[in-house]
Amino acid sequence: MNRVYLALGSNLADPLHQVRNALDALNAIPQTQRVAVSSFYRTPPYGPPDQPDYLNAAVALDTQLTPEALLDHTQRIELEQGRVRKAERWGPRTLDLDIMLFGEQVLNTARLTVPHYDMLNRAFMLVPLLELAPQARLPDGRYLADIARQLDCSAILPW
Ligand code: AMP
Repeated sequence: MNRVYLALGSNLADPLHQVRNALDALNAIPQTQRVAVSSFYRTPPYGPPDQPDYLNAAVALDTQLTPEALLDHTQRIELEQGRVRKAERWGPRTLDLDIMLFGEQVLNTARLTVPHYDMLNRAFMLVPLLELAPQARLPDGRYLADIARQLDCSAILPW
């Protein structure tokens, strides 16, 4: 069993509806229990500024799935909720599900970089995660709270 932290993001097609649907879908993943859900946060777009604000949240899961099997489910949920993969990076999306931490595992495969490759630079990922797990650490032992203190978290507001 591994404790996993997912990041949820949405800025299109009624983000609150998207995230609530995603939470229901996450509940139904086999061999997986949803442990906790953070508050919902309103955050400015990361990347191109000409898009709506994001709803961001974090979810803690306990799973017996492998990282790839869990990714299969999170990508299925993204697709079921109408996400169209476009060439533009960091463009608007109905639903984005990212694996931030998977137990203490470090993965660098074609499909997965864990810990998430950019989470240490993203207050909108760290603030919700730290709400769920203030003592969370990276596999190398560093506390995420220490890293978040170096970031500007002032734009991460309640939804
Ligand atoms: P994006 O379009 O930004 O959601 O990126 C999706 C791609 O990132 C997919 O092809 C995944 O295989 C890959 N990926 C790499 N690491 C992760 C991760 N930790 N969580 C989710 N997707 C990941």
